[in-house]
Amino acid sequence: MSTSRTVICLLRNDLRLHDNELFHWAQRNAEKIVPLYCFDPRHYVGTHNYNLPKTGPFRLRFLLESVRDLRDTLLAKAVCHAVTSEELHVEKKVKEICAQMRVKVHTCWGSTLYHRDDLPFHHMSRLPDVYTQFRKAVETQSKVRPVFPAPEQLKPLPPGLEEGAIPMAQDLQQTEPLTDPRSAFPCSGGESQALARLKHYFWDTDAVATYKETRNGLIGVDYSTKFAPWLANGCISPRYIYHQIQQYERERTANQSTYWVIFELLWRDYFKFVGVKYGNRLFQVQGLQDKSVPWKKDMKLFDAWKEGRTGVPFVDANMRELAMTGFMSNRGRQNVASFLTKDLGLDWRMGAEWFEYMLIDHDVCSNSGNWLYKAGIWLYGDYVRQWIPELQGISGADAHTPWTLSPAVLSHARVSLSETYPTPIVTAPEWSRHVNKKPSGSGPSPRGKKGPSHTPKQHRDRGIDFYFSRSKNL
Ligand code: FAD
Repeated sequence: MSTSRTVICLLRNDLRLHDNELFHWAQRNAEKIVPLYCFDPRHYVGTHNYNLPKTGPFRLRFLLESVRDLRDTLLAKAVCHAVTSEELHVEKKVKEICAQMRVKVHTCWGSTLYHRDDLPFHHMSRLPDVYTQFRKAVETQSKVRPVFPAPEQLKPLPPGLEEGAIPMAQDLQQTEPLTDPRSAFPCSGGESQALARLKHYFWDTDAVATYKETRNGLIGVDYSTKFAPWLANGCISPRYIYHQIQQYERERTANQSTYWVIFELLWRDYFKFVGVKYGNRLFQVQGLQDKSVPWKKDMKLFDAWKEGRTGVPFVDANMRELAMTGFMSNRGRQNVASFLTKDLGLDWRMGAEWFEYMLIDHDVCSNSGNWLYKAGIWLYGDYVRQWIPELQGISGADAHTPWTLSPAVLSHARVSLSETYPTPIVTAPEWSRHVNKKPSGSGPSPRGKKGPSHTPKQHRDRGIDFYFSRSKNL
């Protein structure tokens, strides 16, 4: 086998040819290209804390479809940088082995809308802890890069090298899942399907123009984009979606809905960059607040939750949908996560690890980030402390509800209500209900802050009742 100017493209969550810097770079720098995807056995063992199976049948099927689709594309043409510690560990090892074998390593960053190097913060440690600050900074000071064109023809494999076999689910100790006709995600993996989905959602049905009104739906395929599973595997590029939205806005219509898809993609970016900033803190039980909460580890309650047997029909319906299809709407996820952490008081990592196993679109940063939000151990309160220095001494989200704190806590924080800071002139009933729901008795109140996927208006309008309110979709 010739080794001169051969580039091995080690693929991970970037299973696409369009807007793929790796192939673009290889095409320009190699005579021969070896695209390589490794099925890492560690992805098929137990989860970190609760030893649940790590990759469930729906996600595995989607992954196998995605690898197969990319291989077909690459064959027809004849011929990315990690975030979390597990990924970084693999990357480090690969680099070590390559160094021993005198193979040069070139890494690319390709999974986010805004490139890591284009963020308007001098160092990742300066990344804001508040999403809105992050969003406003990138929207005003950064630019989304153009997409890399897909190569017309890809350089060939080195002579003597043949493409390997793609494993079957059974080879990875899994069974093929059954397909449920009620699934809100009846789609297959792969770049071709991802691009077809975008065409359908944008250009064929104009569903994107009403996304903001429909995105909290529960039944059917088109209430939201359903891009997440393809994004998680890199079958579609967020930059490509962005530029398609720009084109759609030029040629059809620009409204709140078209913008809101970008707004949500920015949440995805934000969680990834927070993962870079805080590393493993994103996965620790104390969360980013470093707050010790007496979570329960009651397996009976957990089993009832994951099997959809809690007796709360809305929670049960969502959990059964997840188990039978590998997908759950954003609204469903918000509810069942609240229920697990707030109402059952269970360790948020139990829920996160069950989601890791079940979700086709599992993304380690989005999953943990959203769970921390729901568990109330995200970095709340910084915004309040920035503008209300009188409350500087109160840590975490408690800064949002000083009137609920004990005299001892207030005195420790040097806050004297009615003296150094006013008692509320009015307390909406929702506030007191949030506060009463806290598992720790004085823990944070995440719904008092804008969390992911909460539009400001929805947020104003919805308290805890939102989650169990009737809608035409229920
Ligand atoms: P759309 O509503 O069409 O949104 C478009 C895209 O924006 C999504 O594909 C996704 O990439 C991004 N997005 C939307 N909402 C969020 C959000 N809250 N956080 C981050 N990105 C968002 N999303 C994942 O991709 N992987 C996960 O593992 C994951 N785990 C979650 C766990 C919990 C507890 C919660 C509450 C949310 C989680 N989400 C996760 C976010 C969100 O629920 C899904 O991205 C969304 O439901 C996927 O459907 P969609 O592609 O139709 O989304």
